[in-house]
Amino acid sequence: MKIASIESYFFEYPLERPFYPAWIPGHAQTANRCFILKLITDEGLEGITAASCFSEDQARVLKVIVQDNIGQFLLGGDPTAVDLYAGLITRFGLMLGGRPWLTEVALWDLVGKAAGKPLYKLWGGTADELPLYASTGETNSAEHSPMQAIAAREAGFHYIKLRAHNDDYKDDVLALEAVHAAVGNAINILVDANQGWSLSPFGPKWDLDTATAYAKEAAKLGIYWLEEPLDRFDFDGLAKLRATSGVRIAGGEMNQGLHEFKILLEKDCLDIYQPDATLAGGVIMARKVAEMAHIQGKLFSPHTWTTGLGFAINMHIAASVPNCPILEFPYEPASWSPAVRDAMLMEPFIPNAGAIQLPQRPGLGVELNPDAMAKYAKKL
Ligand SMILES: [Mg+2]
Repeated sequence: MKIASIESYFFEYPLERPFYPAWIPGHAQTANRCFILKLITDEGLEGITAASCFSEDQARVLKVIVQDNIGQFLLGGDPTAVDLYAGLITRFGLMLGGRPWLTEVALWDLVGKAAGKPLYKLWGGTADELPLYASTGETNSAEHSPMQAIAAREAGFHYIKLRAHNDDYKDDVLALEAVHAAVGNAINILVDANQGWSLSPFGPKWDLDTATAYAKEAAKLGIYWLEEPLDRFDFDGLAKLRATSGVRIAGGEMNQGLHEFKILLEKDCLDIYQPDATLAGGVIMARKVAEMAHIQGKLFSPHTWTTGLGFAINMHIAASVPNCPILEFPYEPASWSPAVRDAMLMEPFIPNAGAIQLPQRPGLGVELNPDAMAKYAKKL
């Protein structure tokens, strides 16, 4: 089996109402925009993958990096030689930027399709479903968040993640208390402060004192974890917070390379490790991080907030390791719904009783929707 051709697309699916991501204060997202890549073999198999992007121009840059530059070494090659290509992809990321790790996902899709097995089974996973947490996306408030939590519980979720990103952290505490008062222990509450990396000059900047003050209040309510309370490189601050706060600390969604995770583990910065195979680092790295975390008695729960294809690969990884208790399910139904997130796929991922059934088709187990591609995708 050889890679015979490569195709790149810019996909743009409009939202019914703008989405205001807590992690980019001041930004209104009006569409699900992404770069979609197809690797097509001489046997007619198609490996697919996607990466979120802000514009068609950014998708064109990704096309140059992934199709024109990395692709010159993939054409004619054996897609099952993933380990060989994973290093190449990372080095092109260093040289040309663009976070090209999505490429590795398409290779794995082909590996699974050639083997006739869903990826999580190829990697030794046995569970047929994974518990999810409803991951909200907009900044929490005492007025709105309790309704979100009640709706998530009614939709079957047992876990919900809030976004603590108000200008004054005390408003985040009020929102958390309001949610707890509304749903009590009927749903487990997680909180993401999104302090690990920032694309905006606006919004709160937590230091160790702020993170400690918030965590102290959150600990009283028994939250399940506090995610990215500090910058992703504040190793000493994270370690101190983890040791003293009484709250589980999660992070690592944008850390890149095993060397960064080695420091996080050696300094004991986190309880839950969250590398995202599409966003930063690739599939092989994410699986290694899960194992490294496991032997240190730590949990793994990958970040998944990109597209339906990004959710799919991280779901397979999560289902193949022994230390992932819950998986992120992006869930802001009024704007970033499953139908929007998965608009390029034949069917959106829909949970059942707070869990996701693992697809049993080979590879990622999902297909691009030809009608959606004809309507919303442009070949680059
Ligand atoms: Mg996060």
